[in-house]
Amino acid sequence: QKTRVAFIGLGAMGQPMAEHLIKSNYDVRGFDLSKDARDALASRGGFPAESAAIAMADADIAITMLPNGKIVQDALFSGDAWKGLKPGALVIDMSSSAPTDTRDLAERLTAVGLRLVDAPVSGGVKRAVAGTLTIMAGGAEADITEVSTLFDAIGGQVFRTGGVGSGHAMKAINNFVSGAGVLAAIEGVLLARSFGLDANTVVDVLNSSSGKNNATEVKMKQFILSETFGSGFALGLMAKDIRIAADLAKSLDLNLDTLAETADTWDAAKNALGPSEDHTAIIKYLNNRN
Ligand code: NAD
Repeated sequence: QKTRVAFIGLGAMGQPMAEHLIKSNYDVRGFDLSKDARDALASRGGFPAESAAIAMADADIAITMLPNGKIVQDALFSGDAWKGLKPGALVIDMSSSAPTDTRDLAERLTAVGLRLVDAPVSGGVKRAVAGTLTIMAGGAEADITEVSTLFDAIGGQVFRTGGVGSGHAMKAINNFVSGAGVLAAIEGVLLARSFGLDANTVVDVLNSSSGKNNATEVKMKQFILSETFGSGFALGLMAKDIRIAADLAKSLDLNLDTLAETADTWDAAKNALGPSEDHTAIIKYLNNRN
């Protein structure tokens, strides 16, 4: 008998992730607020549920791939949707949620006999489609081991980061480093251009030098200099992730200046351009300030 998976959140990331599970012979029942997203799942061979509760009925595993941890809790608890899950079922939150929300969620789930693994991902839409996402998993060793086959269907490398919430902490830290790298790369290009250098040459030199990062290697030519801004990762989501990292630092009494400033810059850009702009469009905000 196929393992039944409730998949909640069928957006840019959730859709291709769910498709890999269908191809790997899981019985996927998906829910998303968007009818287009549900129809897309149906066209990929999944069952489109009309509510989270219907998706979760008799499921062995519930996966959430939603904008943030508050929405994850809503999806599971509003209308008591979780009650349909099989007793002792495993919930895997693959969204980039705040680790504090994740610990709350773990308590609520434990209280009703369910288990939680936080397993956010990195690699973007491209690697979600390829099935090669990096997965950072927090939770009980046995729970993570139980779903290693499922993770293999979606991802490439799986890292065990520690207890519940550690995967989400790791993800926020990754996106801080990534988001700071985007700012550094764009500011470097703006500075170089003002001095009269050619932007494409600048990127080539950085990529052959110690200044290279993911933004110079991938995002700069493909999405930023081309002005296509089509990475598939929204500005509002990046701003959220870096704010999670900044809040975490605050809660630990750490003064991390670059982190604080990076979070502020991404928030300001989100407010100026709107949260649904692609995150690579932040060059427009940085340009407008000059
Ligand atoms: P998205 O906006 O494309 O998809 C989110 C989906 O959730 C949407 O289809 C929306 O309709 C649905 N949704 C919202 N509230 C809902 C609810 N209450 N019930 C059911 N469905 C609901 O976002 P995405 O890019 O797929 O990102 C999802 C998560 O993955 C976020 O936490 C994001 O930070 C993270 N993430 C994104 C990327 C990326 O490159 N896009 C990479 C890694 C991690």
